[in-house]
Amino acid sequence: MPEILPSRFLFGPGPSNCYPEVTAALAHPVIGHLDPVFIERLDNTCEGLRTVWGTKNARTLPLSATGSGGMEAAFVNTVADGDVAVIAVNGLFGERMCEVARRCGATVVRVDHDWGSPIDVERVLAAHPHPKVIGAVHAETSTGVLSDIAPLGQNKGDALLIVDAVTSLGGLEVLADEWGIDIGYSCTQKCLGVPPGLSPFTVSDKAFERRIENPRSWYLDIGLLGGYAGAAGGSTRTYHHTAPVSMITGLQAGLNRILAEGLAAVQARHRAAGAALQAGLVEMGLELFAAEGHRLPSLTSVKVPDGVDSAAVRRYLLENFSIEIGSGSGSFASSVWRIGMMGPNANPASVTLVLGALKEAVAAA
Ligand code: PLP
Repeated sequence: MPEILPSRFLFGPGPSNCYPEVTAALAHPVIGHLDPVFIERLDNTCEGLRTVWGTKNARTLPLSATGSGGMEAAFVNTVADGDVAVIAVNGLFGERMCEVARRCGATVVRVDHDWGSPIDVERVLAAHPHPKVIGAVHAETSTGVLSDIAPLGQNKGDALLIVDAVTSLGGLEVLADEWGIDIGYSCTQKCLGVPPGLSPFTVSDKAFERRIENPRSWYLDIGLLGGYAGAAGGSTRTYHHTAPVSMITGLQAGLNRILAEGLAAVQARHRAAGAALQAGLVEMGLELFAAEGHRLPSLTSVKVPDGVDSAAVRRYLLENFSIEIGSGSGSFASSVWRIGMMGPNANPASVTLVLGALKEAVAAA
């Protein structure tokens, strides 16, 4: 007998639940990665990604890697020894960007912010007169903060703008071309409602022209990946690696689901769920962590009330309601909870469920 595994309400910062169309697509028979049927699927997936990224970039593809792999690909293709990377740090993922850029040889100029605050665009732009790249996280999952990317793009000068849209793509507005994003990366497991495993990735022509020739990573070399995803134009595909056909089939289903509902409607659903959750938490007497006016709808950070055992509440939710919420990040591990409303979970029923269950858990723990 196959083991019956538990299903969960995934309201943490990690994977969200998947759209049902995605779950169905994941069960499709595996086909060859060079099968014309699969090539068509890949093309359709890249097209869907262009729409959610708000870009016409030919080089827009599902990288065979998680979000962190997208981050590595962004830096390994754009910085080499001594290149200056200005990086806005307002949480864990900005910190990770610094480490990745450093390992690629960059001279990193960190622009630190208090955790919970948005990026201060002026400070980031003033940090160095002519960086090769500027890195910023659009939606900081570690703190639940949304930052403004457009002014960075408008004033970046000759620099390439690298943006992490891991907790925004597919659920919040991302306009790569309009905002001046040169390389954007994301993940599949959050607002796109697809399991973890791929990194939606987009590269502007300017970034492609200014890329590092023979970067230290062969696998993530954007010069080689274009042929794999058909981004080099024409119908000729060059073998690069065996495409994760099932995951791409799942991503295609997720994108088609979102586009059938309408991207604007999906974004409105995420905004409404985030706002309702935040209002409900405040009504319960809880204090939100992220700065007012900069709160991420897809991921809410809330302070654990004094005297309440954060881990006991999370355990109660899991054991009694099969609900997962997240702990805080870094030094806020036990003083903050993080609650996601992403993908199919961004709806009023999820808000009611999580608020009711949390109220009971706090009283019981
Ligand atoms: N960037 C942000 C903002 C994230 O939230 C995450 C993961 O949660 C990552 C990068 C890394 O993505 P992954 O865990 O898929 O490698």
